[in-house]
Amino acid sequence: MSDKTEQAPIPEAFAALGVRPSILRALAELKFVTPSEIQALLIPRALAGVDILGQARTGTGKTAAFGIPILQKCEKGLASQAIILVPTRELAVQVDEELKRLAQFTPLRSVPVYGGQKIMAQMKFLKHGPEILVGTPGRVIDLLDRRIIDFYNVRFVVLDEVDRMLDIGFRDDIRNILSRVKGVNQGSVGNANPQTADGNAEPGTSFERSRHHQTMFVSATISPEIEKLSRRYMQEPIEMLVAEGANDKPTVDKVEQFYFSVQPWDKYRLLRGLLLRENPSLAIVFCKTKRGAEKLAKKLHADGIECREIHGNLAQNKRDRVMKGFRGGKFDVLIATDLASRGIDVADISHIINYDIPEDPEAYVHRIGRTARMGAEGKAYTFVGRDQGDELSKVENLINMVVPLGTLEGFEASPTPADWEDRSGFAPPSEPSKPMVNRFDRPYGATTMAVEGEPVKVLPPRTIGSKIPINRRHKRRR
Ligand code: ADP
Ligand code: MG
Repeated sequence: MSDKTEQAPIPEAFAALGVRPSILRALAELKFVTPSEIQALLIPRALAGVDILGQARTGTGKTAAFGIPILQKCEKGLASQAIILVPTRELAVQVDEELKRLAQFTPLRSVPVYGGQKIMAQMKFLKHGPEILVGTPGRVIDLLDRRIIDFYNVRFVVLDEVDRMLDIGFRDDIRNILSRVKGVNQGSVGNANPQTADGNAEPGTSFERSRHHQTMFVSATISPEIEKLSRRYMQEPIEMLVAEGANDKPTVDKVEQFYFSVQPWDKYRLLRGLLLRENPSLAIVFCKTKRGAEKLAKKLHADGIECREIHGNLAQNKRDRVMKGFRGGKFDVLIATDLASRGIDVADISHIINYDIPEDPEAYVHRIGRTARMGAEGKAYTFVGRDQGDELSKVENLINMVVPLGTLEGFEASPTPADWEDRSGFAPPSEPSKPMVNRFDRPYGATTMAVEGEPVKVLPPRTIGSKIPINRRHKRRR
């Protein structure tokens, strides 16, 4: 018997980055042969001890990029040496699982901490002082306040999806958490920290010992504002590492993208038609609201299309079950809110459908980044209402490309139903006062593409219903 030959070979390319044997063994087992670009850039610099802001496209292995140096540098037996903060509970579970896989031949332990789960149950795992915590900000604050965890030993602070973590919804929580980490800049001063002003010391020598901890912030989308804000929480030396293609086209080229010009009352019919035509192996349909996702899932289900929903109205155990089922291929179509737009890594998602176009263009990049991961392919369809041209333009500006118009054979737009008043409940009401918006002087529904140097056919604007602006004040409830 030759059981030796069955062992996967040690990935030399990772060894060349300075990764130690116990982690190399795990990488071999996971069949990671070649480091992705962000991994090749980030791992050596993180091992050298610098603070890092890392930008790379969705699905290019950012988790292992920050995870490997953490596993390499943490010591067995010291609690909470690495704090990894993520925006959703699902992501906490996923990142923790990836770290566990990478740590399988080390004595290091990682524990996910997130809301919606009994704190007592989590305490059980925390009692043994795991070296690594992966958590959502609210629960981490809760655990700190209850003195169940402390930051005494912190050596690494990671913000995954940093732009989301530093946006308005999380900013205060992040500031709260980071202010409790020793020696952190509290977001009030510039880059330089007088305590670690020896920033030009050799990596791995004096500055590393003199500082308390290292920060690594990563995302697929990092605007200049987010970069500036991030730097306030970091200490020199700071490096911004950008994998090629992350900046000019933050989206994945491998995703075939189309938009469909469709009115709210036709969206369901179009979705159904597309699902039947495409027969996706795995698809996520993104909705704007929890309620919308709920209603859409119900409707599809009644129509015989196997699907599940995931959004913030579901209990956490249900959310966990749905994610597990989706990962296991138990059903093909997941109806989701932006809860599932960031970070979620499920192999072989073939289709992303933006049933409601996201208001925030970054969300588009993250949503469609759920497909075409690690070199795979995928399709993304975005439904655009006649008055949503602005949203699509914002997306196109960000991704630096024109999204072509898609078609579905046999699909005819229907006129406004006489009794149309957003009765479906899952279509956001269109704003009647808004004029039609052209991007590249191209009206929605026009089949001509804006190709450089070519004339663009412009159709007269079409409007829905009344053109009289409705003053929002009249609608406000008391
Ligand atoms: P990102 O955070 O950049 O969106 P993830 O960290 O979720 O991407 O990684 C995407 C997938 O690629 C995961 O399933 C991960 O296990 C896998 N992966 C990461 N690095 C490698 C590699 N070097 N070789 C092969 N697969 C990898
Ligand atoms: Mg990620």
